[in-house]
Amino acid sequence: MERIAREVGTPCFVYSTATLQEHCSRIRSAFAPLLPSICFSVKSCSNLSVLRVLVEAGVGMDVVSGHELRRAMEAGCDPSRCVYAGVGKTDLEIEFALRSGIGLFNVESEQEFDAIAACAERLNIRCHGALRVNPDVDPKTHRYTSTGNRESKFGVDLERAADFIRKVHGNPWCSLRGIHLHIGSPIYSCEPYTQSILKALALIDALCADGIVLDTLDLGGGFGADYETGQSPSAADYASTIVPLLEERVRNGLRVILEPGRSIAANAGVLLVSVVYTKESGDRTFAICDAGMNALLRPSHYDAFHFIWPIDVSAAFVPPSRRAKLEMSGLKLHDIVGPLCETGDFLALERAIPPVNRHDRLAVFTAGAYGMTMASRYNSSALPAEVLVEGDTFRVVRLRECYDDLVAHERVGSERCAAAITEPQG
Ligand SMILES: *Cc1c(COP(=O)(O)O)cnc(C)c1O
Repeated sequence: MERIAREVGTPCFVYSTATLQEHCSRIRSAFAPLLPSICFSVKSCSNLSVLRVLVEAGVGMDVVSGHELRRAMEAGCDPSRCVYAGVGKTDLEIEFALRSGIGLFNVESEQEFDAIAACAERLNIRCHGALRVNPDVDPKTHRYTSTGNRESKFGVDLERAADFIRKVHGNPWCSLRGIHLHIGSPIYSCEPYTQSILKALALIDALCADGIVLDTLDLGGGFGADYETGQSPSAADYASTIVPLLEERVRNGLRVILEPGRSIAANAGVLLVSVVYTKESGDRTFAICDAGMNALLRPSHYDAFHFIWPIDVSAAFVPPSRRAKLEMSGLKLHDIVGPLCETGDFLALERAIPPVNRHDRLAVFTAGAYGMTMASRYNSSALPAEVLVEGDTFRVVRLRECYDDLVAHERVGSERCAAAITEPQG
């Protein structure tokens, strides 16, 4: 870490190839009895080199925009192994996905189904869809990331779902062959999965009684990650609840899809930042770092906890585990904040860490998912570098942005701007 921080500079995200592979294989072996298609959620960590590691590990991709599909393809993922969700797919994005040969549309509304079917007919390309159903289950997570309760914008509610499927059944252009669930993230217990799977199976059975066979059940993502040591169920724990509900069905031909993002990428990444200044103010001690919410929005946006620790501390300060409350003497409470002109710009408040000083470097743990992908350029901050570690070597897989990158799109003439309007599809 010290070497990467010194050679690449901060802020930077550092990902571990071995950990990415390890999490993929844990999920694959835990769910092996269901022979699932595992589709990595690109929005959790979309760096092309990270995606390449995952493609090589044998997973497909879950995308939520045309650009994410392009990333998946550029990383070498066969589009037939991609599933495409998202409530606002545009005609251009749908057309691009169809031309690419997308494996499955996860359809979020009736209008969207009509748009997909019309586009497919126009292009003369048949496709498959699954209906995203909102099972009205409380995933007991932050309200911004609860996606399967009645008030959420995602999917179609259960009451409408059966009629919807009956209505579009037999459409020659988009064959609706499954149910898609994604109820929120992170979900720290198995119960919400059980509830929503049982509701989906009841729907599948009701339709089957009408002669409509749905052969695909996409369970979405949402498995937790260990932001604190031991906080989240393991892949094996989730599987021990989910596998028995579906094993028999799989033997009878049901295809299961999983869309893990956080549970693969979060623990595979850290964010390295440097302390620019420290200061005492009132009864607070601030560690002012070279990045905050611009690099990692989660603490500010979701009240999320990330374990933070200096990377070059003495042996006396090796933390016993990653926890909010540590029993160690010599720690001091800090507000670990970023440089932005915004009070919400923090990585942690009142956090006990070893005393730090100017130029010390801090590692923000479990930052591999929803870190870089939610980073912003607020205050004209340049996006951080990204580094991939493999064995005992590392390489920069995204250059740190510079001033010219920030203003490049403002310097171009109107001709290029006009050409860029249809760009998502390329
Ligand atoms: C975000 C998302 C996921 C991934 O969720 P994680 O919590 O990162 O596993 C999966 N499916 C869909 C449809 C999503 O929007």
